[in-house]
Amino acid sequence: MKAAVIMDIAGCPNRCRHCWLGHEKNPRTSMDDYQWVAGQFKGYRLNGSTYFDDLIFNSWYREPDYADNYKELWELDKSLSTSPPPRFELASIWRLARDESYAPWLKSLGVDVVQVTLFGGQENTDYFSGRKGAFNDIVKSFDILINNKIAPRVQIFVYQTNVSGLINIVPLLRDVEARLGFSLDCYVTISDPMGAGYDLEDIRVTKEDLLKLPGYLVEKTMRNKGIDEFSDIWKEERELLPGLTEDNAPPNDEPDILAFMVSGDFNVYPNSGEIAPYACLGNLKSDGINAVMDNFINRKTQSLKLNHETPVSYFAKKYGDSNGIKLTDRYDLCKKWIRKEAAAKL
Ligand code: SF4
Repeated sequence: MKAAVIMDIAGCPNRCRHCWLGHEKNPRTSMDDYQWVAGQFKGYRLNGSTYFDDLIFNSWYREPDYADNYKELWELDKSLSTSPPPRFELASIWRLARDESYAPWLKSLGVDVVQVTLFGGQENTDYFSGRKGAFNDIVKSFDILINNKIAPRVQIFVYQTNVSGLINIVPLLRDVEARLGFSLDCYVTISDPMGAGYDLEDIRVTKEDLLKLPGYLVEKTMRNKGIDEFSDIWKEERELLPGLTEDNAPPNDEPDILAFMVSGDFNVYPNSGEIAPYACLGNLKSDGINAVMDNFINRKTQSLKLNHETPVSYFAKKYGDSNGIKLTDRYDLCKKWIRKEAAAKL
């Protein structure tokens, strides 16, 4: 069994309103505690046999490299892992704007692309990032990335309340593109109804809202997704509902790489669900690794049961809105309905 164990060592400087990981306090986990956690998973046996034959460790699951000893932690991640830990296209924008050695260090690891998240101009980006100064850090990070030959990949979250203002960031994006010297990878996206993002469902966009998008962002999004029709990306809930009421398979959301997310308080969550009590596999300190893994393997949490055992048709009939015009997809609807069902059972 291959899996990743990802621990929230230092948290995140932001409190993004869409954050699927929620808004837990920032922990200050010691390297000793992190190594202890790694040892629990490495030593886990099922019926006397090794369960994990490949384990990857990452010392963050919110903001990468937010801990001051991020270089030391990266070396520890590598030494604990049985195959090389991935860097993804994620980095700390907060650190890029403050730590001159960070971008060269990223480049030395082979990082060529870094994701940057915008919500519009300064007012909306600071608001949706949950931090004053977030937009200025992003603008600064564009310069630093370009100077270090790292390409920004820009994702822009779109809501009813920010779509009209997105026209104002097109000059900034065009300027970044000109300085890059090649096409900027950039796209609009919609946040998942998970974690803090569940509370943004009221401002989820409709087809009419997306008519306000600047042509530049429409073209960039179609190019990023390799599609000819922008309207193919999302559907209205009412369009999807007839198919989903006939869908008798469970949601079965399984990320490409199974990961166990360990909070600063040693609670463990699988990455197929939210950081929420109904998804918690247990606490490594008080319950122990055997109980945590038993809850995972035998799908004993409410979240795992709803994801793997409850038909989509059950959720669709109970929670589907046959007049719903907000744009969505099967994945987001299932996540929203699982959350509603979990709340109803509390
Ligand atoms: S979305 Fe990312 S940057 Fe924003 S609060 Fe969550 S972990 Fe931090």
